[in-house]
Amino acid sequence: MRIELTLPEPDPCSSLAQLGIMKVNKQRVSTLKDLEILKNFHTHTYRCGHATGNVSDFVKSALQNNITHLGISDHVPLPDGKWDIRMPYKELPEYVRDIEEAQESNSEIKIYKSAECDYAQEYVNYFKEELLGKYKMDYLMGGVHFIPRNKNWINCYYADNSKESLFAYTNYLIDVIDCDLFAFIAHPDVFAVFYHLWDSEAVACSRAILEAASSKNRILEINGSGYRKNPIETPRGWRRPYPIDEFWLLAAEYNIRVIINSDAHRPEDVADFGESFQLARELGLEVVDLKF
Ligand SMILES: [Zn+2]
Ligand SMILES: [Zn+2]
Repeated sequence: MRIELTLPEPDPCSSLAQLGIMKVNKQRVSTLKDLEILKNFHTHTYRCGHATGNVSDFVKSALQNNITHLGISDHVPLPDGKWDIRMPYKELPEYVRDIEEAQESNSEIKIYKSAECDYAQEYVNYFKEELLGKYKMDYLMGGVHFIPRNKNWINCYYADNSKESLFAYTNYLIDVIDCDLFAFIAHPDVFAVFYHLWDSEAVACSRAILEAASSKNRILEINGSGYRKNPIETPRGWRRPYPIDEFWLLAAEYNIRVIINSDAHRPEDVADFGESFQLARELGLEVVDLKF
C-alpha cells in the first residue's frame, strides 16, 4: 500500500484514546524475561564519526553488562561516499577485521559482523555481494536516516514537520521493508523526530508501514536510544523523539514481531534499552530471539 497526498486534513484533536483500537495481546510475553539485557544487535563505533569507542571497548562493556550476543552494526560504508554519518569505504576491511579479532580473543561472547544500511536500489548488489558475500556479515539491518525530498536526501533530524515529509518517509521505508536483505528494520517510528502530531496522517502512515512489515513478515526494532535523547516539544507537550507509544500500540494489532536494541553510540550504553522491554510487555508485543 502506497501513501498518496489525498488524505484528510490533519485532525489536531485526534489522540491515542480516540483511536479506540487497542487490542493488547497478553499471551505472548512468556519468553521476554529470558531475552532482557542479554543481546544487542545494534552498535556503532568511532568509525562512523559520531560515536565513541572501538570494537574492543564495546565488547568489554558488553561483558561487564552480561550481554551474551553483541552485533557490531556501524552505519554502512558506501563505495560512492553517499550520505554522511558513516565510515569511509576504504575502512571497511579494517572494520571487519576489528570484529573478527574481537571474536577470536573473546570466546565467552558471540560477536556478529553487521552494518546498518541506508537503502537505495543501486546498493543492493553491493550489500549482497560484498557485505554478505565477500565479508560474510552475519546480518544486515535496514535503517532510514535520510528521506528523499524534491530530488534531495534530507536527514530525518532536519526534515520539515509536514505531511509531505511524512509521506516521503513512509513510501521510502516501505521500499526498505520490501528489500529482502535485511534481518530487521531499525527504528521504524523515527519519523516522529520531525512529524510532531499524532493525527490521521500519522495513523495512516504507521498502518501502511505495519501492513508492509506484516505482509513481508519483517521484524521491527524498538530502539532504546530514543530514551537517551533530549525530549522534543510538540503541540501535545514534550515527548521523547522515539520510540513513540502510539506507533507500537498500533503494531500490537498487526502481530508484528519485534527486536529490542540499544543502538549504542558509546560503550557505556551497550546494555541501555531505556524502557523498551516494559513497552513491549505492556502492549503484548512478541520480542523475538534472533539467531544467526
Ligand atoms: Zn548513528
Ligand atoms: Zn543505529
